Amino acid sequence: MKQVSYNPYATAQTQFDNVADVIGLEQPVRDLLRQPSREYHFTIPVKMDDGTTKVFNGYRIQHNDARGPGKGGIRFDPNETVDTIRALSLWMTWKCAVVDIPLGGAKGGIICDPRNLSKGEQERLCRGYVRQIARNIGHVNDVPAPDVMSTGQHMLWMLDEFESVHGGKYPGAITGKPVGMGGSLGRTEATGYGVIYTLREALKTLNIDIATTTASIQGFGNVAEYVARLYSSMGGTVIAISCWNQADQKAYTFRKPDGLDVEQMAEIKDSFGSIDKEKALGLGCELLDGAEWSAQEVDIIIPCALENQVTPACFFALSEKVKVICEGANGPTIPDCDVLIKDRDIFLIPDFLANAGGVTCSYFEQVQCNMNYFWPKEEVLEKLDEKMTSAFWGVYNLAKEKGLYMRDAAYVIAINRVVEAVKLRGWV
Ligand code: NAD
Repeated sequence: MKQVSYNPYATAQTQFDNVADVIGLEQPVRDLLRQPSREYHFTIPVKMDDGTTKVFNGYRIQHNDARGPGKGGIRFDPNETVDTIRALSLWMTWKCAVVDIPLGGAKGGIICDPRNLSKGEQERLCRGYVRQIARNIGHVNDVPAPDVMSTGQHMLWMLDEFESVHGGKYPGAITGKPVGMGGSLGRTEATGYGVIYTLREALKTLNIDIATTTASIQGFGNVAEYVARLYSSMGGTVIAISCWNQADQKAYTFRKPDGLDVEQMAEIKDSFGSIDKEKALGLGCELLDGAEWSAQEVDIIIPCALENQVTPACFFALSEKVKVICEGANGPTIPDCDVLIKDRDIFLIPDFLANAGGVTCSYFEQVQCNMNYFWPKEEVLEKLDEKMTSAFWGVYNLAKEKGLYMRDAAYVIAINRVVEAVKLRGWV
C-alpha cells in the first residue's frame, strides 16, 4: 500500500479531540469515539481476463453504530490507505448524526484502479469483496454505497452476491443502486445538490444573492458536476473547474473568465470525471495548472475532489474576494488551515454537513426499498432540501449563539447526538 505523509485519520482525530475538549467529554467516551469499533481487512483473489489471478486488498471499517446500522461508501482507488478509510468512517458517523438520520458510520475500500480493469474483472472484484464481508454488512448492521470510482453497477453486482450468500432479497442492504433496480431517483444529484442547498442558505446569512456570485470548483465527478449544475441553474457563474487527467498523470484547471457552460463541460467528461483536454480547448477554455483552481478571483471555492487540498499553500493563494469555502469533498481542508480560515473570517461550510446529501438520499433509498414503493424525484429532492436546510440552520444557529467556528459547531451537534446514543445504550 502506498505510504503518504498526509494522514486523514490524524486530521479526523484532531478535529474530534478539539471538540471533545470544548464539550468536556469524559475519557471513556473519547476512547470509544476517536477510533473505529471494528475493522475488517481481507484479500480478494480475482481471475483476470488473461487467465492469471490477481489478489486485491479490501477493507470495511465500522466506526460507530449506536444510532443505527453503519453507512458509508466503498472507494475503488489505487492510492487508498487504511487510515483514509478509518478517517472516512469517523466522518460518516458525524455526517449521519448532523443531519439526524438513524444511521451510524462506516467506510470501505478496495485498492484497485477500475480504469485498468475490464467489466468482467470489475464484476468479479465486486463479488469477491462481498463474499469476504457478507456476514458483517447488510441492512441490519452496515449498509455500503458507491464512492470514489465505484458506481451503481458495482453496487448492484455487490447486492446480487450478497443476496446469493444470504438466500433472499434484501434491497436495503446496499444503496446507490441503479434506478429501477432498487435505486432512488435523485441519488445521482443528491450529494452535489445538497452542497448547494447549504451554500444557498449560507449566502442568505451573508446577504449575498447567489446570482451575483462566481465560483471555482475542484473536481468534476459525481459531486462536482451536480454542484456546478444546480449552482449555475440558481444563477451563479462557474469560472473554473479542475480535474485529473489520467493520460498526462496531472490535474488541469479549465477556465473561462465569463463563465463555463456546465452542460457543455459535462458532455466532454468521461465516467471518471475527467474533462477531455482537446475538446475543452476547442470550446475556448483556458488550460491552467491543476493547482490554479483555488487561485481564481471568485466569491466561492468548492473543493469536490479529494482530501488534503486546502493546505496553507492553497490558502495563501486564495483571492481576497473569496467569502465562502464550501467543502463538497470529504476532508479537503487540513486542520492548520482552519485557523487561517477563521482569522480571515471566511464562511466555512464543513464537509460532513455540506456533503451529507448523498447519505441522506441513501437513507431515503433504504426507506423506499423497505416499503418497496418509490417516490417521484421531486419528492425525494424536496425531502432532501428540507433535511439539508434544517441541518444547516441547526449548525449555523449554534455557531452564532456560542461564537463557534462552523466546523466546530457541526461537530458539537453530531458528537452530542452520538454520545447520547452510546450512553442511553449503556456502552459507557
Ligand atoms: P468521483 O470519482 O466521481 O470524482 C472525483 C473527481 O476528482 C474527478 O473529477 C477527478 O478528475 C477529480 N480529481 C482527482 N484528483 C484530482 C486532483 N489532483 N486535482 C483535481 N481534481 C482531481 O468522486 P465523487 O463521488 O465526486 O467524490 C468526490 C469527493 O466527494 C470525495 O472526497 C468523496 O469522498 C466525497 N463524497 C462523495 C459523495 C458521493 O455521493 N459521491 C458523498 C459524500 C462525499
